[in-house]
Amino acid sequence: MALANGDSKVKPDGLIVSFGEMLIDFVPTVSGVSLAEAPGFLKAPGGAPANVAIAVSRLGGKSAFVGKLGDDDFGHMLAEILKDNAVDIDGVLFDQGARTALAFVTLRADGEREFMFFRNPSADMLLTEAELNLNLLRSAEIFHYGSISLITEPCRSAHLKAMEVAKEAGALLSYDPNLRIPLWPSTDDAREQIMSIWDRADIIKVSDVEFEFLTGHDTVDDETAISLMHPGLKLLLVTLGEKGCKYYTKDFNGAVDSFKVDAVDTTGAGDSFIGALLCKIVNNPSVLEDELKLIQVLKFANACGAITTTKKGAIPALPTESEVLELLKQ
Ligand code: ADP
Repeated sequence: MALANGDSKVKPDGLIVSFGEMLIDFVPTVSGVSLAEAPGFLKAPGGAPANVAIAVSRLGGKSAFVGKLGDDDFGHMLAEILKDNAVDIDGVLFDQGARTALAFVTLRADGEREFMFFRNPSADMLLTEAELNLNLLRSAEIFHYGSISLITEPCRSAHLKAMEVAKEAGALLSYDPNLRIPLWPSTDDAREQIMSIWDRADIIKVSDVEFEFLTGHDTVDDETAISLMHPGLKLLLVTLGEKGCKYYTKDFNGAVDSFKVDAVDTTGAGDSFIGALLCKIVNNPSVLEDELKLIQVLKFANACGAITTTKKGAIPALPTESEVLELLKQ
């Protein structure tokens, strides 16, 4: 961000700081089995905020991740993945007493998703306010987060403090609730807590499934979407899987189609989409006020989401800018 005199900087250019959980999903080596039937599991590093940080750096943006991992082999492996992907890890901590979060996930033959979480508690849940790297938070131009870090203390207070510090230092706040119902004590609690920080965000992205969960409407109609707008909200996005996305600002709204691809695994599509959007906004915040520019950016973000569905896993599938430009040419 340049100062008024234009020749010195108050923040490193375009830093996007992503806050929350990073974990390992264990997915069966064969598809269509229950967790109990699975003959073996493959590690799939993930966690939406960590995926977003990597999505940004893979597109050539500057990103940092803030969160806590276990001081164990898996925690150090995840930190290495961030580092290898050029994500700043100055805000990453290692807990001596708790393990890195694990989730065993499967899509059974009957189409039901089965989850088994190892968070009793896991290191990410134990991040405290006092451990936050305030300088890093203050240097964010965009501060991005989800809602899983709101589920339990002390991480909840750390999350609220981090939002406050980043906002006071002038960051745009970006919120993707990333609903995971099995992690919440109840669906009512999930809805209430997700909405408890709604009106502080500048940019909010929800999927059509989250839209239904929050509003009770199973189609994304404009009237209901507009009712989700709060006075300070600069951009609301509702992603619609293969159908692309809808956008809402106080001055205009519309829809942008996605691209036809052979989808094999949709994990991380939403993270890729929001990472791409934030990358573009940090370079040119005027896209939030200019509908034609916004549509171009959303085409780019849709292309990123689409490409991410064409490979298994989230992180390996996040695209580089040249891969996106290739798809946009078609
Ligand atoms: P989430 O991963 O949060 O559930 P979506 O599934 O809505 O989010 O995907 C985010 C974006 O990725 C969509 O808005 C769209 O642009 C793109 N996308 C997702 N699935 C597909 C698909 N099958 N074909 C093309 N684009 C897709």
